[in-house]
Amino acid sequence: MPFDLPWKAWLDWLLPCYCCSCAKQSVQPNKPLCYQCLAELNTTQYGSSDQLRLEKLFWGRIRLESVYALFPLKPHAVLQYTLHQLKYHHRPSIGAYLGALAGKKMTTMQGLADVAAFIPLPLHPSKKRKRGYNQAEKICAGLSAASGIPVWNDILIRNQFTQTQTRKDRGERWANMSGKFSLLEFEKAIGKHLMLVDDVITTGATLEACG
Ligand SMILES: [Zn+2]
Repeated sequence: MPFDLPWKAWLDWLLPCYCCSCAKQSVQPNKPLCYQCLAELNTTQYGSSDQLRLEKLFWGRIRLESVYALFPLKPHAVLQYTLHQLKYHHRPSIGAYLGALAGKKMTTMQGLADVAAFIPLPLHPSKKRKRGYNQAEKICAGLSAASGIPVWNDILIRNQFTQTQTRKDRGERWANMSGKFSLLEFEKAIGKHLMLVDDVITTGATLEACG
């Protein structure tokens, strides 16, 4: 490496940044995804059939304004590898990065302008201790930084440990989740348009229980 490069170039050379999806060295400083992998993430369009399919999960179940997932989750694709790194390889900055992408997108969406606060879906304290952080809180931090909307981290709590949801169908998940959350500071939430945030939406049972 030539000696006339600025200190930042030296730092990149000494501590290269690797993409959390393809594991190749990235030229995006301090970003978890390389340009190529970022380009492979196809943003869900607001008002699209994908979004309608998500909203249908909640029709007649809870009162809501809108449901939105920033990206469709496909197996063996960039987003799946990225979320795996976020949840199981201690990469909390990925949550803030994905949250910031969603926050920028959010500012252009109808019906979301009057959101008063983001509320991350709570992890049980023992699970949070084990992971070191709640990934939904990290996503909320990115959303907040991009949109200026505050995060209420402590208003919703998980009452007791629930078994992993991975192998349950929707009915079993709902029975398992019902009554497992409590809202603190009820007065603070009255009349507010609040956005519940999680890393992945599948059956929607956990979000529904919180809602
Ligand atoms: Zn990559």
